Amino acid sequence: MKYDTISGIAGKYGAKILYDESIAEFTSFRIGGKCDVIVMPNSAECIAELVSECRKSGIRYYIFGKCTNVLISGEGLRGVVILIDGDYSSVRRDGNDLICDAGASLAKICNEARKESLSGLEFAYGIPGSAGGALYMNAGAYGGEMKDVVSWCDYLAGSGEIRRMNAENMKLSYRHSAFTGSDKVILSVCFRLTPGDENKIAELMNETMKKRRDKQPLEYPSAGSTFKRPDGYFAAKLIEDSGLKGYTVGGAQVSEKHSGFVINKGNASFDDVIKITEDIKEKVFADSGVLLEREILIVE
Ligand SMILES: Cc1cc2nc3c(=O)[nH]c(=O)nc-3n(C[C@H](O)[C@H](O)[C@H](O)COP(=O)(O)OP(=O)(O)OC[C@H]3O[C@@H](n4cnc5c(N)ncnc54)[C@H](O)[C@@H]3O)c2cc1C
Repeated sequence: MKYDTISGIAGKYGAKILYDESIAEFTSFRIGGKCDVIVMPNSAECIAELVSECRKSGIRYYIFGKCTNVLISGEGLRGVVILIDGDYSSVRRDGNDLICDAGASLAKICNEARKESLSGLEFAYGIPGSAGGALYMNAGAYGGEMKDVVSWCDYLAGSGEIRRMNAENMKLSYRHSAFTGSDKVILSVCFRLTPGDENKIAELMNETMKKRRDKQPLEYPSAGSTFKRPDGYFAAKLIEDSGLKGYTVGGAQVSEKHSGFVINKGNASFDDVIKITEDIKEKVFADSGVLLEREILIVE
């Protein structure tokens, strides 16, 4: 069987593996079809062996974290989906650093920072991704971004070696990093923080979360901001000015609460989301001359 070796590696490490299962339930958009294989590695060695086997055997593979910034095809994905999530998610303190496995959620990391009275990650509280996904995207919010707090990361290079990269080599810029579009797999991330007061940290995190709850349609599945912030503009404002608030295609809708979010109002398909984003781009361009660029990543 084509995936026997992959099953063997998962078995050797005790990693969870699923065959012919829908990926939708693993994504924040709740969209995506059945994938040949979904495997949830539980160590760096397991990730390295899975990736190396796929490369050697010419099996297509996909790396995801918590799937909160992706729109995955309704046809699913052929090959091996490697979900680096909660099964590889330890967080440990070393001085003022938090060293996190790539699958650790930002929620877990922020809570750990708060408990350890380490400041710097307050802005990230409420971003629903993993350490690996957040670094890949240089995730940011409320005036902060990963660039401000990441010190180094360990990654699996294309050659199969595990290497360390310091932040200054990561080319971190708006929703971009040295990992964007590369074959490098982030294995762990070191956040360099500063000693702070637990109560103040908690207060800031709660404020951030309240802003999110008040402004964002968190009650519906989505992948966060649909479009990047164009230079000098706000995507949500342009969309609203084009009269698209509440605009609906099938089960996908421009959120009435926050026009920057396309939400899954109920059974939205991959095609619905593609169509609605194309319609938005076209109308906003016609009205304002600004060409919006998708922030959500399309995987098919
Ligand atoms: C409600 C909501 C609110 C959001 N708010 C924000 C926000 O305020 N700011 C913001 O920046 N984003 C926001 N997002 C988007 C998203 O949460 C972030 O981009 C997050 O960092 C993505 O992490 P992830 O683990 O889900 O990555 P995924 O969606 O799983 O993957 C994203 C990309 O990263 C790559 N990747 C993931 N893990 C690894 C790894 N270990 N090694 C190599 N590549 C990897 C994938 O291949 C993919 O290309 C929001 C999303 C939602 C649903």
